[in-house]
Amino acid sequence: MALALYNTLTRRKEEFVPIKEGQVRIYTCGPTVYDYAHIGNYRAYIFEDLLRRYLQYRGFEVTQVMNITDVDDKSIAAVRKTGQSLEEYTAKYKEAFFAGLDTLRIQRAEHYPEATKHIEEMVALIQKLQEKGVVYEAEGNLYYRISSFSEYGKLSHMKLDELKGGARVKADEYEKEQVSDFALWKAWEESDGEVFWETTLGKGRPGWHIECSAMSMKYLGETFDIHTGGVDNMFPHHENEIAQSEAATGKPFVRYWLHNAHLIVEGQKMSKSLGNQYTLRDLLEKGHDPVAIRYLLMSTHYRQQLNFTFNGLEGAANALHRIQDLVNNLALSAAEKDNHKLDAILEQARSEFESHMDDDLNISGALGSLFSMIGRVNKLIEGDGLSLSDSSKVKELLARFDEVLGVLEPPAKRPSEELEKIEKLVRQRQQARAEKNWGEADRCREVLSEEHRAVLEDRPEGTVVLDKETGKMLMDVVRSEGD
Ligand code: AMP
Ligand code: ZN
Repeated sequence: MALALYNTLTRRKEEFVPIKEGQVRIYTCGPTVYDYAHIGNYRAYIFEDLLRRYLQYRGFEVTQVMNITDVDDKSIAAVRKTGQSLEEYTAKYKEAFFAGLDTLRIQRAEHYPEATKHIEEMVALIQKLQEKGVVYEAEGNLYYRISSFSEYGKLSHMKLDELKGGARVKADEYEKEQVSDFALWKAWEESDGEVFWETTLGKGRPGWHIECSAMSMKYLGETFDIHTGGVDNMFPHHENEIAQSEAATGKPFVRYWLHNAHLIVEGQKMSKSLGNQYTLRDLLEKGHDPVAIRYLLMSTHYRQQLNFTFNGLEGAANALHRIQDLVNNLALSAAEKDNHKLDAILEQARSEFESHMDDDLNISGALGSLFSMIGRVNKLIEGDGLSLSDSSKVKELLARFDEVLGVLEPPAKRPSEELEKIEKLVRQRQQARAEKNWGEADRCREVLSEEHRAVLEDRPEGTVVLDKETGKMLMDVVRSEGD
């Protein structure tokens, strides 16, 4: 089966066919760095990460661009209040945004263009629009005349006749009720303070929408494969991006538009006044595991509203334990013979996982297949057991799924030379015990604990070696020689 994605433009699931075979070019509306990102924003970034990872899993080479909006009405207002320069002000939020990506194991995009570093490209695009005759001036500002673009509204399915004649807005963000001409360039005014650029369009700054058209086309070409963002971006932002780009180039701008639904908290819209607007940092300070947060934000289908609850977060942590338990159980199982039931179970899990993900990234279905596999494999371990080669097969499939999910614990980070030393000491101790040389056995245990921060558990199958701090297994069970 082929990968199908729901395209907002056509309101249908469509088979995904990239422009260039084997390659996907994606543009993602990134953060406005005037404040810390809240977990709703991270829901959007995690959906985009899942999309990216699954495309890679499917063998596509991905080029993703995510813009950083480091100038807009909100950041300018904030700069006025704090007296800092725009650059100083946005730097800390930019840094926090990237730190958040790493914390949540969100893969980095290939490019993170910043608006303030692409003013020239925006000016050039506005000039192109002027040449096409779709721009007019009012009080020094330049506006896009949406009535000049007959397809205006094709993404959000708004009708142009809802446009009240001559209505226009200058603000970066405005409501659906206002189908309006929008600002491409805003002439400097006193409230902008130090924030302005001297350009051929005059002294001023770009509007918000032109940024995404200029930067996406610069890095991805005039027509590219996928554009993503939250549903709130669909109108007017994405509608305006289409109008600007297609009027300038005369070509289709984007083939597939994907929008994630919003995240709400405990059944309510996030808002500062309700006190339920959490940043990632808020949750980490409460002691929540970042991987559980990732899991929770990922595990509801992206087009469904996600209700973030603390119960749900606990559930996510439990789900992760179930996966990790299987990894631990595998390390302990060492049947002599291969289990003949295993291959069919793994093959079924792989094929179900893929057909769910192919169906517009049906992640809950895919996770269902994973957990049903975990249950069945655990039964095999309890029954006839798994051989070492069986265990590797299961681990391989888990690692493959984790390329998409990004939730498994990476193997403990110890250099391989240290792991070799540890294993040698564990074997020396086993030897000493076999010879009832308890003094030497204790010495080995002590060196392991003091010098290598490794603790041991003796089991019938052999010695389990755990990291002293994290309690995670450092290596597969060390079986005693002659077993
Ligand atoms: P912003 O920094 O406001 O431009 O938003 C960055 C991204 O987060 C955009 O794709 C928004 O559509 C998305 N977004 C904003 N609020 C939410 C929310 N509550 N749930 C999911 N996505 C959101
Ligand atoms: Zn955008």
